[in-house]
Amino acid sequence: MEYHLQKGMIDTHFHGLIMDRKKIDCRAVLQKAFDTGLEYAIDIGTQMEDIEVRFELLAGFNNILFAAGNYPSEVEKDSIQNLILELEKNITAKNSLSKKNRRISAIGEIGLDWHWNYGTKRLQTELFEAQIELANKYKLPVLIHNREADKEIIEILKKTPPAAGGILHCFSSDYHAARSFLDLGLSISFAGNVTYKKNIELREVAAKIPLKSIFIETDSPYLSPQKVSGKTNHPGHIGFTYETIAECRKMPVDEFIISVKDNFLKLFNPE
Ligand SMILES: [Zn+2]
Repeated sequence: MEYHLQKGMIDTHFHGLIMDRKKIDCRAVLQKAFDTGLEYAIDIGTQMEDIEVRFELLAGFNNILFAAGNYPSEVEKDSIQNLILELEKNITAKNSLSKKNRRISAIGEIGLDWHWNYGTKRLQTELFEAQIELANKYKLPVLIHNREADKEIIEILKKTPPAAGGILHCFSSDYHAARSFLDLGLSISFAGNVTYKKNIELREVAAKIPLKSIFIETDSPYLSPQKVSGKTNHPGHIGFTYETIAECRKMPVDEFIISVKDNFLKLFNPE
């Protein structure tokens, strides 16, 4: 396995459980990544029942935060009401305990996916909106999945603004959409696809938006950066994406690391 990291880097979006299911020794990989410079990482949920398993899988890592939420595909599994009820039960149960590495620190990933068209558009919209309302009730940031749904996500965010802020994860839209999300107080996270040769326009977005709104993620085990393409992705690859964006912003990587960390501390208040 290749590790490409510098001290202070943060992976805002990885899926430990999916890595585990792909037979990657998730704990060993994360330990090595933390030893090599990774400072924080957020383990992302896609279904409510996975939170306990994820706590167990990543037990003992003090600098891993957990997000929990119903991915858009969950609309095919249960009623919106039950999905929300379960999520809320988990938030109140976990967050009443003082153990910081067994808390739910954000709601995600949630959003709209018009590409795979899970359930119906109406159901996806209802689930997304209800989860923003829940995040607002517990003052948690939201982590948003957006696949071919810029317009509708912007509409929902206008109607139901996330009170504790949030991130558009694996940003892949254009500058115009980025501008709308920023104007609504949200931040933008770039994943390995920003390093792909063909994604010139995406790098232009990364160069143009304010530093205070940028996060970096691997979305492991998906989306390996160009330089390790074809290999399974893991949080130890986060450095490639940091370097690409620092380079297109014409700034030293060290400065960029500090700025992303600043953004992270402000939004997630991990201590
Ligand atoms: Zn994800």
